[in-house]
Amino acid sequence: MKLTKLILLFSLLCNISLLHALQQSSNPIGIAIHGGAGTIIKEKMTPEREKAYREKLTEALNAGYAILKQGGRSFDAVEAAIVIMEDSPLFNAGKGAVFTSDGTNELDASIMDGATVQAGAVSGIKHVKNPIRLARLVLEKSPHVMMVGAGAEAFAAKHGLERVSQYYFYTENRWKSLERAKSKGAARAGETSRKGSSDSDKLEFITREKGTVGAVALDRNGNLAAGTSTGGMTNKMFGRVGDSPIIGAGTYANNQTCAISATGQGEYFMRLLVAYDVHALMAYSNKTLQEAADEVILQKLEGLGGSGGIIAMDKAGNVAMPFNTKGMYRGYVDNSGRTIIKIYKDE
Ligand code: ASP
Repeated sequence: MKLTKLILLFSLLCNISLLHALQQSSNPIGIAIHGGAGTIIKEKMTPEREKAYREKLTEALNAGYAILKQGGRSFDAVEAAIVIMEDSPLFNAGKGAVFTSDGTNELDASIMDGATVQAGAVSGIKHVKNPIRLARLVLEKSPHVMMVGAGAEAFAAKHGLERVSQYYFYTENRWKSLERAKSKGAARAGETSRKGSSDSDKLEFITREKGTVGAVALDRNGNLAAGTSTGGMTNKMFGRVGDSPIIGAGTYANNQTCAISATGQGEYFMRLLVAYDVHALMAYSNKTLQEAADEVILQKLEGLGGSGGIIAMDKAGNVAMPFNTKGMYRGYVDNSGRTIIKIYKDE
């Protein structure tokens, strides 16, 4: 009799865990990435370059999606996708980052876990190969949310993160962009001081290169995560911090609502707290992901004169990717597991 009861109990437990596993495997998963927004026009793109971008975006998406498919964490998927883009000179993050007015590279990154609402962020990084890994380290191994400069570098060294010389980040393209921005600035210096100091005048010679990278993801446990990594803007003053490492501006994730990663003129994204604002519109005004994302980018950002875009994912795995520039390198994996990559506005 006792044995029969035990067998019954055992099979009941087995059924419960089987049910749980089945339920979990039917939960939606999703990942979306961006590789920066800006003046991306088909006529100016060579077929080889376009192919290179599509292939690298696909590789990053697949790496993240593979983690999610195996039941891994969205947080890990976001990091994996971003590391691949940081390692590619195509993007303005990690290798291939833009230069400051001083000819240095200063990198910013942040990552956020929507399940715990914990975040890690770093700014002014000069020697860490993958700043997104350092942002994660700040979240996991320090009591802080954000670290900058020398202290952040020392923290990276202490934890054995791969460190590189500044030369590692160098690419000829980005150096030429700095030279162009500087000579444009010198030629028009007199003009600008006469023109006054509107927002756009002030930012005129700090040119934004497409190529900031970011990812958002949802895992089988219903957890959202977001991350962003960038070299910032070409010819930025050294010491300048953009929106990418600012939690709530360039990155935000909260299981209640959504995960967001932004790209665009950081000064505007910081003033509008773009990423948090999408969350807030969903949380307090019951807007859908698409409505909230569109309102923030196409009305508020546009209204203030800023440019850029976001990738956004909600807890059901819906994706929104509004931008007000000519293009945005972007991609996502749809419900059937198909990889979609888009570059231009009308795609
Ligand atoms: N948002 C970045 C910054 O302002 C630049 C970009 O996304 O293009 O640093």
